[in-house]
Amino acid sequence: MALVHNLGFPRIGAQRELKFALEAYWRGDSSRDELIGVGAALRRRHWAQQARLDFTPVGDFSFYDHVLDMSFTLGHLPERVRGFKGHELDNYFRVARGRSADRAAAQLGQGNAERSHAGHNHNNEDHAGAECCPVTAGELTKWFDTNYHYIVPEFDSTTTFDLNASRLLSQLREAHAQGVKAKPVIIGPVTYLALGKARNASDRLALLARLLPVYEALLEQLAEAGAQWVQIDEPILVTELAADWQQAFRTAYEALATTPVKLLLTTYFGRLGGNLALVAELPVAGVHLDAVSAPDEVAPLIAHLNADQVVSLGVVNGRNVWKADLNALLATLEPVATALGDRLWLAPSCSLLHVPVDLALETELDAQLRSWLAFATQRLDELHMLATALNEGRAIVQHELARNRKDLESRRTSARVRRQAVQNAVAAVTPALGTRRSRYGKRAVAQAERLALPLFPTTTIGSFPQTETIRRARRLHRSGQLSASEYRQAMHAEIERCIRAQEALGLDVLVHGEAERNDMVEYFGEQLDGFAFSRNGWVQSYGSRCVKPPILYGDVQRTSPMTVQWIRYAQSLTDKPVKGMLTGPVTMLNWSFVRDDQPRSVTCLQIALAIREEVLDLERAGVQIIQIDEAALREGLPLRRQEWKTYLRWAIDAYRVAANGVDDATQIHTHMCYSEFNDIIASIADMDADVITIETSRSDMELLQAFETFTYPNAIGPGVYDIHTPNIPDKDTIIDRVQKASRYIAPRRLWVNPDCGLKTRRWEEVTPALRNMVEAAQELRELF
Ligand code: GLN
Ligand code: ZN
Repeated sequence: MALVHNLGFPRIGAQRELKFALEAYWRGDSSRDELIGVGAALRRRHWAQQARLDFTPVGDFSFYDHVLDMSFTLGHLPERVRGFKGHELDNYFRVARGRSADRAAAQLGQGNAERSHAGHNHNNEDHAGAECCPVTAGELTKWFDTNYHYIVPEFDSTTTFDLNASRLLSQLREAHAQGVKAKPVIIGPVTYLALGKARNASDRLALLARLLPVYEALLEQLAEAGAQWVQIDEPILVTELAADWQQAFRTAYEALATTPVKLLLTTYFGRLGGNLALVAELPVAGVHLDAVSAPDEVAPLIAHLNADQVVSLGVVNGRNVWKADLNALLATLEPVATALGDRLWLAPSCSLLHVPVDLALETELDAQLRSWLAFATQRLDELHMLATALNEGRAIVQHELARNRKDLESRRTSARVRRQAVQNAVAAVTPALGTRRSRYGKRAVAQAERLALPLFPTTTIGSFPQTETIRRARRLHRSGQLSASEYRQAMHAEIERCIRAQEALGLDVLVHGEAERNDMVEYFGEQLDGFAFSRNGWVQSYGSRCVKPPILYGDVQRTSPMTVQWIRYAQSLTDKPVKGMLTGPVTMLNWSFVRDDQPRSVTCLQIALAIREEVLDLERAGVQIIQIDEAALREGLPLRRQEWKTYLRWAIDAYRVAANGVDDATQIHTHMCYSEFNDIIASIADMDADVITIETSRSDMELLQAFETFTYPNAIGPGVYDIHTPNIPDKDTIIDRVQKASRYIAPRRLWVNPDCGLKTRRWEEVTPALRNMVEAAQELRELF
């Protein structure tokens, strides 16, 4: 009998209930008990939805982040929040979100405690808790190669651990009371150490000996509370591990083998590769393998395991939204099930945290597209179908299987998915398409002549404040209360306001302000064939913050210009150059649910061709500067370093196709919301943008060293101030930063601009900040 279980369920709620409850609490609009009540209700509901499983995950729910939960369970809190007198949940949020000096001083919950991430900004207010002092938030970073972000554990040589199992134990009690066949979920010790950052060059592995007794005690308490199996997540096993980290696995699991629970060692997000033999050698009761990423490792893993070990196969995709091919899966699983009997468990490839909750809510997606998709709830249905067919014979689910075959066939043959013209265009792409007519030196001369910009030209990254007026106009337009022409008028008014403001500030290169854009990917996706948008397809990005990734289902094609009319209008208002503003192909790809029926590289190239048409239309419309944002290029890097080169090759090639079809005198800018370029600088140079604007202000320009060492040839706009806080940078700080930058990069190749777009800021902040920036540039021109 094959069993069915789940590794984790989305915690945010089908209607984002958790998000709204958290934000209400942080604003001070609801009580702690109300928030705790919403959490309990969500767990209850989610367990009920998973009631048919043989094992249901418990402990996967979190008020902010499951890695931070684990830190609290292990009694591993940053020094700065220890000894807090208030409620533990408030202390937890202090680590999660920080608390600004502003806020602490005001004590009223009026200030802006905020953080930004991956180019997304938000500004939720902090809860007016009973405390006074500013606290720095824990660092957020990407959870492997997903768009989920976790709070990084902070280690140093003095780090100690001290078990606090109360959260897990109380959730386990709740689950048992509800009759749930509970399987607690925790992060394993080696992955926990690997996910953290060590300060002062201390050795994380040296902490293992201190950590293991705490894990042993935790497992004992879980056993006492009635847990039979514990899912212990060690996804670090899908990355390249040095010998000492491999040894840490042996040490850790030998120690944990003596505890009275059965451990399901769980890996996901990729292949085990060189770690397969290691995994097979560990004394655990069972192993979970991501069989979507590594179908070819199923047989070798089974061959390596003992005859009493459980094999959990993640056969349906936990991080993408395409219906599984049940018939094909059964064909491969039937012999496995025969061989393994009770030892076979079926599961999603990874936690379902990374997909939306329920497709049934998507009443506005067309029926055909819906018939191709599966969200979290549907994934569990797929698993039950597979298990039924394996355990009781295919005949019992023959209708479902026939249906599945039909749906997949309709996707495979749909003219919305495969467009011959697009396939032909991709096949015809040559390197020449991605190559500028002349080298940078020659282009720079042509551009300088045409644009006649001063030394240290000033500009912004594109967006200006998204005011309530703008959002209201967009809402009314969407709901049909504002006609197309009324909406255009409203946006023209915003553009005009934005242009006048920039003229008054004395900026050199203007932007139209992006008022018409809800989101930098969605705006373009909505106008391109091949993209679809859900209504409720939210996925947690971090804390209360969710994203709604576009569903990239078919060959991508542009049907008409997407931005030209706005830019042309903006340019008609001023003599200063106005930049055209586009999102690049790699970013569109990396922030979407991508199709699984062709390589990502092909999809990326299709988007690139569509963006290229827009670039050329802008150029024909007389636009002299075009910016193509690639905010998400770096985050697409594969988990294994050995795969970086391939990714960078096709990603950069796609960008080049999008950007480099223009004449010498047209200036191409690109923008990236980060500054760690050390390991990819050659690829960045290969993009051959005339100007690249990047984030550097928070690192005080140090990170520009990468560009110096490499002698990066083109122009750079290192962000001179941090737009992620409401603080107004003063002129001297900016001057100082540009002077620092000029140590690494020749002044004539430096631009002066903020870190990122200004959409999350208020005009009251933007105006003085940019005024100081422009004055700084003017003073710098005197100095050099
Ligand atoms: N042009 C975009 C903006 O200014 C860039 C945003 C981003 O890089 N995340 O908003
Ligand atoms: Zn940015």
